[in-house]
Amino acid sequence: MKIIKTILKISAACIALFLIGGFVYYFNYIKPFKEQMAKTMLVNFDMNLLIVQGGGGNSGILLLDSMVLVVDSKMDEAALELHKIANRMAEGKPIVLVNTHYHPDHVGGNHLYAGQTIVAGGNYTEQLWKQETGSNQLPDIWVKDSLIIETRTERISIVNIPNPAHTESDLVVFLNNKKVLFTGDVVLNNQIPLLQGSAKPQGYLSAFDYLSNRFDLNTIVPGHGNIGSKKVFSNFKQYFLDMNEASKNSAQKDALIAKYDGWAQLPFFMSPRATIRKF
Ligand SMILES: [Zn+2]
Repeated sequence: MKIIKTILKISAACIALFLIGGFVYYFNYIKPFKEQMAKTMLVNFDMNLLIVQGGGGNSGILLLDSMVLVVDSKMDEAALELHKIANRMAEGKPIVLVNTHYHPDHVGGNHLYAGQTIVAGGNYTEQLWKQETGSNQLPDIWVKDSLIIETRTERISIVNIPNPAHTESDLVVFLNNKKVLFTGDVVLNNQIPLLQGSAKPQGYLSAFDYLSNRFDLNTIVPGHGNIGSKKVFSNFKQYFLDMNEASKNSAQKDALIAKYDGWAQLPFFMSPRATIRKF
């Protein structure tokens, strides 16, 4: 009897510790991170291009002669707001929504675009899409290689990166005349990436080479964080090079990790150490 009581006491203590740890983690890290993520900011890039930062992944609304192009549909309240603005700008023109990838912060508003055209990465299967988005609403166009939309004012390249990095299929959208690249979560600004499931650090490194060779970049709209110059791209590339080095060089590891203390992160999941474990 005594041993059973002891086991019960130890189990109760473990559960209590686990719950307390969970609460502390939630209130110290997850809650402030979610609050920060919910904030939105409008950036008028020019007369025809509006960037909406935050509220999930960063989005863009591009006004063209015969249509409106939207990149990523956000989540929660921000998704409703984005859709309202896109509708207002479209004035009845068709909307083409491109999803850079299937994560909820990028597809959370897809249901609002029922009846419009939705474009997603061609490496996904219908089953994977339904499973990851939690919805039976499927994209209309799956881009296996690339899809070019030619208009009077802009040439839009929607490209499925050959070596996937963040998920099984990562689409980027390049506006050739404006030299603006929407990267989805293949590039982030001042934020540590979440590398879960099929995410591959080597895929990121080859994606960086591929994108800088293929496109004459001027402005980067990262998946999260502020838009910026090519520097956003090179900083994020340097992060992966540093973490690759840290995975092999234990003497340098702590110093390389400390370089990124100022970036948004979540201990254990979205952290330099979590990236190093993936190499
Ligand atoms: Zn994201």
